[in-house]
Amino acid sequence: MASAAERRELLRAVYHEARGCVACKLHETRTNVVFGAGNADAELMFVGEAPGANEDLQGLPFVGQAGRLLAQLLEEIGMVRDDVFIANTLKCRPPGNRDPYPHELDACRHFLDRQLELIEPTMVCTLGNFATKLLRGEPTGISRIHGQAEVRAIGPRTVRLYPLYHPAAALYTPSTLAMLREDFHRIPEILALGPPAPAVEPAPPVPPPTLAAEQDQLGLF
Ligand code: SF4
Repeated sequence: MASAAERRELLRAVYHEARGCVACKLHETRTNVVFGAGNADAELMFVGEAPGANEDLQGLPFVGQAGRLLAQLLEEIGMVRDDVFIANTLKCRPPGNRDPYPHELDACRHFLDRQLELIEPTMVCTLGNFATKLLRGEPTGISRIHGQAEVRAIGPRTVRLYPLYHPAAALYTPSTLAMLREDFHRIPEILALGPPAPAVEPAPPVPPPTLAAEQDQLGLF
């Protein structure tokens, strides 16, 4: 098992790999790759959708108004940005902030999986509809599923997945902000549960007994 220092070095190597990535066309329009930022040994990781204009310029995730709200909410639960790791499903900005295309997400997914593998968070908060649907692999929208923690295998890691509204959606809608804040304030109690047990694979269905087996059980042979 790799030490924290080894995992940090490996994460740095993945960062350098991402900075040179040309696997999808978004590399042509990006200013910076926005790999993610924060504590490389964090228990808690946030995953948003994709970098916006400010993030693209600075190379850092959640640096605009939504980022300030995220920092404020963290402060309200006694944490700071450096306690957590913040990343996105896509590492480069889609032009005009359009939704990511499926082939872009496919091309980029391995970076997020490597981040999960190396940072080893016990809890992952998806921010908004997009990241929630992608990481849960289901179409259920954020309005139905926000604030409901569940144990899920996300790529290489089993975590406590906790969907939240995206801070950008809460900036100008007080009712959304109230729900985001209420969900956010439950993070410490979920974190305190510690690492979840690995997701259990459902047992394969038991085949119906053959006639020979039935006869065997009946002691006919
Ligand atoms: S979005 Fe991801 S896959 Fe596409 S160029 Fe950027 S880092 Fe590479």
